[in-house]
Amino acid sequence: MKKKADELGLQAFIAEAGPFAAELRILRERAARGHTVPFVTYEPARRAEPAFVLPGVKSLVAVAMPYHDLAGGPIARYARGPDYHQVLHAKLETLSRWLEENAGTAARTTIAVDTTPLIDRAVAARAGLGFYGKHGGIITYRWGSLVTLGTLLTTLSLRPDPPLESRCGACDLCIQACPTGAIVAPGEVDPLRCLSTWTQMRGSLPDWVRPALGTRVFGCDTCQEVCPYNTPHLPPPPPRNHNPASGAGSESDEDHCQELCGLATMDEATFQDTLAHTAAGWRGRNVLRRNAAVALGNLGDRRALPVLDQLVEHDPSPVVREHADWARTQIRNHGKKTGL
Ligand code: SF4
Ligand code: SF4
Repeated sequence: MKKKADELGLQAFIAEAGPFAAELRILRERAARGHTVPFVTYEPARRAEPAFVLPGVKSLVAVAMPYHDLAGGPIARYARGPDYHQVLHAKLETLSRWLEENAGTAARTTIAVDTTPLIDRAVAARAGLGFYGKHGGIITYRWGSLVTLGTLLTTLSLRPDPPLESRCGACDLCIQACPTGAIVAPGEVDPLRCLSTWTQMRGSLPDWVRPALGTRVFGCDTCQEVCPYNTPHLPPPPPRNHNPASGAGSESDEDHCQELCGLATMDEATFQDTLAHTAAGWRGRNVLRRNAAVALGNLGDRRALPVLDQLVEHDPSPVVREHADWARTQIRNHGKKTGL
């Protein structure tokens, strides 16, 4: 089965399917502290019990699919390219069929790719697919934490793999690098301090969040990018010839400015063609346009002012108008400056 997963470009490890008692305790403690992700509405008890997802489940196949070859940019790596939920789901369907055909006995399977209450990271840790990093992500040996996770639940009894010990050691680079101090304890991210969460929230962004977002438009890669387990897999950052003495910025800043202007003004047809079918598309066009307007304010490039004026005066979305107005005030007050 692992060989088949390998052929599909995945890594697969196996865990037994008992309840996740330690994770349930942690989820409840975090909920009591208000550290809950606003988009995850499942009851903790359902998240920690694989049998809720597949009655009679005996084994969990934890899988990882890499996205390490993507270059950096305003959209977080995991959310670029075709929506990973669909890509991984299709691969898991193939793996599931293979498993059923080769099991020699009748079996039921269910696929989970962020689509069931099950905590994919807890499954991955139990199966030894990776270990929990202090940034809260699962670190695999082969691809670091630059992976998307999924689980195949099956009524087959498969031999489990041993879990891995944490290999973070004394490193705390991700905790130091987080611009908002969102990693409040090793392995614990406060979702309401995490910029990735805020890029996905609808409505008006709080004042403290806007400058902190820098030029991020969807998600945040910062704690992943500094992790020594990821750096060997990341392509080198593109050269940026920024000259702080110049009010207009450099050519690469101009490209960046144009890219963000394009995102802030994208029409529905462009959104459907480019981003609607990626993992960044799920919150809709105006959340991304709002974030791009904020990013322009943080980039501080005066060349964006005509676009921002246009948005403030004519955009049908009140949220986009409000954030474009904030952005042009930033640029007018501070001129050229860089984001975080
Ligand atoms: S994703 Fe960004 S904001 Fe969230 S914990 Fe990591 S570095 Fe901090
Ligand atoms: S940056 Fe260091 S502490 Fe953070 S997850 Fe990576 S190895 Fe662990």
